[in-house]
Amino acid sequence: MKYFPLFFDLTGQRVLIVGGGEVALRKVALLEHTGAVIHLVAPDVVPELLLRAASTRLTLARREFLPQDLDAARLVVVATSRRAVNRWIAKLCEARAIPVNVVDDREASRFIVPAIIDRDPVLVAISTGGTSPVLARRLRERLEASIPKRLGELAAWLRELRRAARGQLRTAAERRRFFETILDGAPARRFIAGDRRGASRSAQRLLAGRVCAAPHAGEVTLVGAGPGDPELLTLKALRALQDADVILYDRLVSEGVLELARRDATRICVGKTARGESTPQDAINDSLIRLAREGKRVVRLKGGDPFMFGRGGEELEALAQAGVPFSVVPGITAAAGCAAYAGIPLTHRDHAHSVSFVTGHADTGGAEPDWQALAKPGQTVVFYMGLARVEHVVTNLLAHGAPPTRPAAIVEKGTTDRQRVIAATLATLRQALTAAAVESPALLVVGEVAALADKFAWFNARPGAALSKTG
Ligand code: SAH
Repeated sequence: MKYFPLFFDLTGQRVLIVGGGEVALRKVALLEHTGAVIHLVAPDVVPELLLRAASTRLTLARREFLPQDLDAARLVVVATSRRAVNRWIAKLCEARAIPVNVVDDREASRFIVPAIIDRDPVLVAISTGGTSPVLARRLRERLEASIPKRLGELAAWLRELRRAARGQLRTAAERRRFFETILDGAPARRFIAGDRRGASRSAQRLLAGRVCAAPHAGEVTLVGAGPGDPELLTLKALRALQDADVILYDRLVSEGVLELARRDATRICVGKTARGESTPQDAINDSLIRLAREGKRVVRLKGGDPFMFGRGGEELEALAQAGVPFSVVPGITAAAGCAAYAGIPLTHRDHAHSVSFVTGHADTGGAEPDWQALAKPGQTVVFYMGLARVEHVVTNLLAHGAPPTRPAAIVEKGTTDRQRVIAATLATLRQALTAAAVESPALLVVGEVAALADKFAWFNARPGAALSKTG
């Protein structure tokens, strides 16, 4: 992180603007919303600056910049049309350790100004590190649309409520839950919709009923994190992550997903690798129960979907037996995510009328799937498993009558920026995998649809995306 984000209180502070054109005018317009004392130096100024100087806390000096203009300046914005002059002033600022922004000259700037969404007192600032103002603007547009216009007023109302809550709810935890109930429920919805009285009424009811003062039992939410790309999270999963006190996550959960969790949530990796280290299932179950009994909101975060080869069922059984409340948020399972990002339709009118999800992991108690059924044509079979099992799967499919020419594809690290798709046939698959040095996690898709990966490659595709057809 090159730029440190902060919000600067400019009340009563002297801000110097050098330049008198449209750009300077825009900066003045923005700075006027703060309590800053603005000084502007420029020999020529646009007419609107003159008008503003007459009516606001802006003072104009209509002359060239002089080094002593920097005296007592807290911030400096340089916006003349002369690059050399801008850089000279920036240097002077640097020498005096005064933060300076040179408009459209990131290199000469000590600070840059973000794109903002203003819901005073709520302020959302967006920075692309100066790489792309257009990208920042696009992001702002999207956020503008999704952030309620009354958000600032809502924040002010919550501040008022804080006083009331402090009087009636003793602990910080009670107050936090009270405000979460307000924000997640009817009161905030009403407020945003403009019904202030309705909002106040339901908030008062909440306070009076001391709904939140009851000792709050913890709970566990089983959350599907999807296959890797954080944008594939559901809104519900995102909310659960942002409300969590503790997150127990699997190794398969991507870094990007974890970054979306509440900052002060405790994160515990209970990684299960196909081989090697793993937390025993009993220990995971026990932790879930213990943490919930301590009153924590626990998120059990699993790659893909929690009920798809994720042992979600076993954990729920333990929770149910212990009487711990739970809920489940589904996720996009690896088969769906990898297939979509690899351009492999799992079913297809011409090629596959059914799809099976099969675990090829060795730890299934030795029970073998029905190879005969899986070897039949006209279907897609997706194997969730470690790469070490590919050999076993291919051998069995061939032994049970699948033709060596049947298409098969491996999707490595699906939906992530390191995704690779290796398309081959049952005959050539093993060789292709070795040649490509594929790593886990990887998913095997067997069936005619696998042959479409080449044609439909759209994500992270290289020229000649399917690495090998013939081995
Ligand atoms: N609950 C998970 C699956 C857990 S089993 C889900 O619904 O997706 C773990 C197996 O899933 C891995 O061995 C691998 O075969 C597959 N897998 C999970 N994420 C993957 C990814 N991003 N790319 C390829 N395969 C993946």
